[in-house]
Amino acid sequence: MDKDKLPIESPSVDPAVLEQIRSAVRDLCKRFPGAYWRELDRQKAYPTLFVQAMTEAGYLGVLIPEEFGGSSLGLTVAAAILEEVHAGGGNAAALHAQMYTMGTLLRHGSPEQKRRWLPEIAAGRVRLQAFGVTEPGAGTDTTAIRTTAARSGDVYRINGQKIWTSRAEHSDLMLLLARTASFDPGKKTAGLSVFLVDMREAVGRGMEIRPIRTMLNHATTEVFFDNLEIPAGNRIGEEGRGFRYILDGMNAERILIAAECLGDCRWFVAKARDYACERVVFGRPIGQNQGVQFPIARSYAESEAVRLMVYRAAALYDSGIPCGAEANMAKLLASEASWRAADMCLQTHGGFGFAEEFDVERKFRETRLYQVAPVSTNLILAYLGEHVLGMPRSY
Ligand SMILES: Cc1cc2nc3c(=O)[nH]c(=O)nc-3n(C[C@H](O)[C@H](O)[C@H](O)COP(=O)(O)OP(=O)(O)OC[C@H]3O[C@@H](n4cnc5c(N)ncnc54)[C@H](O)[C@@H]3O)c2cc1C
Repeated sequence: MDKDKLPIESPSVDPAVLEQIRSAVRDLCKRFPGAYWRELDRQKAYPTLFVQAMTEAGYLGVLIPEEFGGSSLGLTVAAAILEEVHAGGGNAAALHAQMYTMGTLLRHGSPEQKRRWLPEIAAGRVRLQAFGVTEPGAGTDTTAIRTTAARSGDVYRINGQKIWTSRAEHSDLMLLLARTASFDPGKKTAGLSVFLVDMREAVGRGMEIRPIRTMLNHATTEVFFDNLEIPAGNRIGEEGRGFRYILDGMNAERILIAAECLGDCRWFVAKARDYACERVVFGRPIGQNQGVQFPIARSYAESEAVRLMVYRAAALYDSGIPCGAEANMAKLLASEASWRAADMCLQTHGGFGFAEEFDVERKFRETRLYQVAPVSTNLILAYLGEHVLGMPRSY
């Protein structure tokens, strides 16, 4: 049996179906080659056509239950879809949040909120892919956020600022974390609540979005709130429990980001191998030299180990088994492996690694993000040290 066809360790997914989905995603991605991504990267533009194609194919609704118009296919399938996008040289950052941000609504929303929004999100008619958590003054310490939501009759008034709110200009809804009670040092995670903000109504009426230019094409922004009024009915779940609701969504996000890094690993290894076989220097392919060949082989070995971790975490998630440790380890190992693979690939290409037309420098910049966002490596290590290994809390 071909090693690549070995069943993925998820009891909920038929390997043949998974392979069909992977193959269909690969075909779709072929319509969006390196030149497409390169041009967008130059213009710092959003991949609208790609996102449309992925939406129309139904890939962004795989985590939404069938009763709400999704396909209920689960996280293993979602991970495979994103992995294939990255392995094909693309970047799923423009759309991955449409897959999983709705998880908070699905788990904690009222029946009425779910009926209203989930079918629209599943069909792609409404985009819920802006996630407003990080603030300039709080950084990684989410409990220190200062954006407030003050209740006044039937509305909440939002004041404050978010930073790094990605895709805000390409989203209809934002999942917002805001403070509904003042900070209590004895109960740091209390007093935060989650809201759905309809950005179509909010922009210009108390919400302002300012793009941030970054080293990669990521459509990220800062968002300012000045007495923005939102209906009280847009709060998700109970007031004051928002921190817990946001945490609940993090395992899925980490596993999916890890799958993207795995796709990047595959792309870098394949690109480096092809170039090492073609490029002739001193009368022989550079890949004949162990100094070039071995780093490629090492990255391949690392990416195969990462694959096991990513799909193990996804299988646990799909089975409803706690997977915090596995999700975090998958994200940690995958983001480091993809960065080493990026460095290896660039080195293999010599000077051409820096030339835009090879796409290596673009993918190199893109994959670096994942050691910082959505959670930085140190915070994962702190989680493992404290919660898995039982060592003292380090922060
Ligand atoms: C392109 C991009 C897109 C993003 N998209 C979103 C988004 O859509 N929504 C959103 O809410 N956020 C988003 N983020 C924010 C992202 O989640 C944060 O940047 C990330 O969590 C790190 O927070 P910070 O930048 O504030 O770093 P800081 O918290 O300032 O930390 C800086 C460095 O110090 C380290 N550090 C801090 N405290 C400790 C400690 N106690 N022990 C050890 N090390 C520590 C960190 O690991 C990090 O390396 C995005 C960020 C980027 C760059």
